Amino acid sequence: MAVRVIAVDDFDLVVFGGTGDLAHRKLLPALYFRDLDGQIPDAARILVTSRREFSSGEYRTWAEEALREHIKDLDDAALTRFLGRLTYVAIDVAADAGWAELGKILNERPDVVRAFYLAVSPDIFGTICAGIGKAGLVNANTRVVIEKPIGKDGQSAKALNETIGKVFQEHQIFRIDHYLGKETVQNLMALRFANALFEPLWNAAHIDHVQITVAESLGVGGRAGYYDTAGALRDMVQNHILQLLCLVAMEPPASMDADSVRDEKLKVLKALAPFTPELVEKHIVRGQYKAGASSGGAVPGYLEELGRDDSLTETFVAIKAEIANWRWSGVPFYLRTGKRLATRVSEIVVQFRPIPHSIFGSEAGVITDNRLVIRLQPDEGVKMEIMIKDPGPGGMRLRRVPLDMSFANAFKVRNPDAYERLIMDVIRGNQTLFMRRDEVDAAWQWIDPILESWSATKDQPKGYTAGTWGPSASIALIERDGRTWSEENA
Ligand code: NAP
Repeated sequence: MAVRVIAVDDFDLVVFGGTGDLAHRKLLPALYFRDLDGQIPDAARILVTSRREFSSGEYRTWAEEALREHIKDLDDAALTRFLGRLTYVAIDVAADAGWAELGKILNERPDVVRAFYLAVSPDIFGTICAGIGKAGLVNANTRVVIEKPIGKDGQSAKALNETIGKVFQEHQIFRIDHYLGKETVQNLMALRFANALFEPLWNAAHIDHVQITVAESLGVGGRAGYYDTAGALRDMVQNHILQLLCLVAMEPPASMDADSVRDEKLKVLKALAPFTPELVEKHIVRGQYKAGASSGGAVPGYLEELGRDDSLTETFVAIKAEIANWRWSGVPFYLRTGKRLATRVSEIVVQFRPIPHSIFGSEAGVITDNRLVIRLQPDEGVKMEIMIKDPGPGGMRLRRVPLDMSFANAFKVRNPDAYERLIMDVIRGNQTLFMRRDEVDAAWQWIDPILESWSATKDQPKGYTAGTWGPSASIALIERDGRTWSEENA
């Protein structure tokens, strides 16, 4: 099946942090694939900066190595064309050198779309925005892309947004959450709003509960220093998991227009029942992994990786969240994420209520309640679990089968990485899949009391053995309600 490619307008993309991990693993491969598919206009340029003293030729060699490492079958002609688009300009954003050269190159084409991608630590977002403003590089066609984390609490997020807002207007700011660029996440919207089937059932009368799991099997490894200042709640829940929750729970927007969608997501965030210290104690479990086994080998605990034994940072969190509105009243949303868990899987499970009455005798077997499973990784796909009659003449025996739509198998096309779509949306100026400032504020408003409560109690996170599904308290959190975590990928 051929992929439909809609060309974007001519652009100059400037990547700050062009020698970093994100550029290496995600941005360069994403841009290569868009170029390979013919989406990037002939004249489009990619300008890359960092402090390193590279010539453009040296950077192209570095970029080629990155692409060879991350992409199996590179097309030689496409590679040459793509590398030819790259120009390197050395800039230490804290100093003055380099900005004039960048300005000179950009001002050769003042009328094309100009996008700045800040693939750097958030500490220097403000400095870069100020530098861009001072160098006079913002025009009507300019956009800026901000990576997570946006602040470490509501106050710091506000300060950061204000700093960026001094140079860019809200419609020019693209706060990226790459989960929103995933094929399945967008399919969640297609599923809900392009089918008449689900909407009548999509409420407390028919849905028992929702689970959102983002599980990683890896530990923090070399990122322990950074991770220790964040933790699972800030790193995963404040952004990715709450965004997924919004897409499951939001009312149908009037259109796919960016503000229509974001208005509805904002309403969900504002309807999240707030946490008091008592509710934090009752409905939230935080954990920290201890030494254990992963992929068959022994692995160290978090504190050993960190090299300190006094960290209270959580590498796991499970939350029973509630949305206080008509649609979702009484439907728990169980959220959980962690490192060094039993497997790497991200999925949303929508668990429907039981049938009201069974007409089948005990010989038919157990009737399992319907579930809709939306899998984000490792294999993107959607699965509806329904009961059918076991085939054959053995009487009326029932069994659960998945109506499975694995995208990789269903459509014989490469599944594009989220960054491919999101970068092209930036060039198009389409903010639908990017977070608006008030969404970030509302998410922090819900998260802040949890952080404050943890910091007041100074309780040690509950230990869990690496390679398991987290602390036993997380299992108790859901089983107390007579439910279980969905762990069939384990
Ligand atoms: P990284 O590997 O540490 O790269 C940082 C980049 O910033 C390097 O290119 C570095 O190059 C440049 N830099 C640092 N100080 C600079 C300065 N004063 N002036 C100019 N350039 C400077 O970081 P990363 O992992 O790519 O992450 C970048 C951003 O993306 C962060 O906000 C991160 O939270 C976010 N993010 C990353 C990932 C990921 O998978 N890596 C995923 C999601 C979000 P020089 O040292 O040569 O200057």
